[in-house]
Amino acid sequence: MMHKAYKITEKKLGCSYSPESTVFRVWAPSRQVVKLMVYNNFLEVRRKLYPMIKDEDGVFEVEIAGDLKGKFYTFQLDLKLEVTDPYAVASSLNSLKSAVVDLKETNPEGWEDHVVQNDSTECDVIVYEVHMKDFTGHETSGAKFKGKYLGMAENDTWFEDVKTGLSHLKELGVTHVHLLPIYDYLTVDESAEAFNDEYNYNWGYDPEHYNVPEGSYATEPSNPISRIKELKTLILEMHKAGFKVIMDVVYNHTYRGKDSNFNMLAPNYYFRRREDGTFSDGSGCGNELATENDMVRKFIIESLVFWATEYKIDGFRFDLMALIDIDTVKEAVDVLRLINKDIMIFGEPWTAGLTTLPDNKTTTKGRQSELNFALLNDTYLNSIKGDGNGGGRGFVHGNSDCKNDAETSIAGSIFYDYGHIGFAAKPSESINYINSHDNLILFDKMRKVFPYISDVDNDKLNRLAFGVLFTSQGIPLIHAGNEFLREKHMIDNSYNASFKINAIDWSLKKKNAGFYSYFKDLIALRKERFEFRMNTTQEIKEKLKFFHIPSSSNCIGLTIETDHKFLLVVYNAHENPSL
Ligand code: CA
Repeated sequence: MMHKAYKITEKKLGCSYSPESTVFRVWAPSRQVVKLMVYNNFLEVRRKLYPMIKDEDGVFEVEIAGDLKGKFYTFQLDLKLEVTDPYAVASSLNSLKSAVVDLKETNPEGWEDHVVQNDSTECDVIVYEVHMKDFTGHETSGAKFKGKYLGMAENDTWFEDVKTGLSHLKELGVTHVHLLPIYDYLTVDESAEAFNDEYNYNWGYDPEHYNVPEGSYATEPSNPISRIKELKTLILEMHKAGFKVIMDVVYNHTYRGKDSNFNMLAPNYYFRRREDGTFSDGSGCGNELATENDMVRKFIIESLVFWATEYKIDGFRFDLMALIDIDTVKEAVDVLRLINKDIMIFGEPWTAGLTTLPDNKTTTKGRQSELNFALLNDTYLNSIKGDGNGGGRGFVHGNSDCKNDAETSIAGSIFYDYGHIGFAAKPSESINYINSHDNLILFDKMRKVFPYISDVDNDKLNRLAFGVLFTSQGIPLIHAGNEFLREKHMIDNSYNASFKINAIDWSLKKKNAGFYSYFKDLIALRKERFEFRMNTTQEIKEKLKFFHIPSSSNCIGLTIETDHKFLLVVYNAHENPSL
């Protein structure tokens, strides 16, 4: 392939600002002529053009004297195409132009030296997954800046007499908050006028600028500084509240393929291709990044380092991680751990379609073994509650066929014994979950299995399922609203299904107060008893013993022994939830 001949460059790409001058560098090895275009205003057509000099490493460069802060820029390729900068750290409204900013001016007060008081590592971690707009966008959130970074950063917000937002998370007791995409994605109109259109909604798995925060969550989306400073304010407030922040990263594909920045700058380099030249589509979104290519890998590693340092992000959740080649993952883990030894890294060990990445390079289950990152465990999910969207039954629905897998899952998905063989070398490699933003939320899934289920019985089944989750070995993850029986009107893929379907209605916390209280107690119990979060395989094998319950095939019983005392746990699942 032609690209193998390309040299890797160690130069800092993108825009390097100082008040005296700004240097612009872009890698476009097969392009002949690249010019920098500088705009005073991102909506203006008028701009200044500056020729860029090409070096033998394929990098075009120009240094412009003077203070360019507040200007916008793009690159013109071979006198015809115009692209924004994939290395940009700031952007205009709706990703139209890259922006020159002084990042030093984006730090909120108290940012530089702050530390997060949170020593939860390995199986002490409890992950809460949430979408920015869902969290405080609803009228019941009590937040001033509804659906914004600053809305989530607010403390002491209420719906009637129940806490909401960040204060709610403190009360709940989770340790890590996983934010669904907060980098710049393309399918939402960022303009202030469009914010309240309920159909102007998306989860954001459609990346445009990997190193720029999404603009629609900013209070002034057309001011490039606003989104940066406000996201940092949110992270600062979350850290002050004791939470670590996990960012969702989608380095497996970009929203645009052929006409993306990457593909125009270096045609046929950034994306995997089939033998016939068409784009491989293991993401199910039309393309996949060729993470195994040197300059793609370099981009991803530098992007992760940027978020971990400039934004003090505490962890990363890799979307469709199977599509990121294992060598890139290993390098990312090593580099990130040098920055922060406790950084949390996990991902989805599957693809969404056929990929040209060879099987032995995919980051699939088992390949994480002893490599210091974790995987979302679909066997856990399937064994406890059946399939994602259908009427399939799991252990909690009384399906005794799932019992063995459920036991393996409860024991941390390790090699527990020859009857219970999991994929993990240690329990902290397994992210245990019953639902995420994907597929039916648990309350709806129960209705799919039992179409005539009463809310009372649904509450019971949810109690059983989350009771299993918080007493399982491994790292539990919940989706926002699970703690008070949030529903999504039976929609199994709500990524663009309007804000109304996705928003968190805080009145549910009041309505389902009994369930919420139970859920909160489960988290407290897990934090109190280390027996439910043992970190070594050996300890689990020594202390955790399953026992046979002869009277029922739909119960799982176990004991955990410490200091000659036994914790006894029995999960009683029956085909009829009313019993
Ligand atoms: Ca955007």
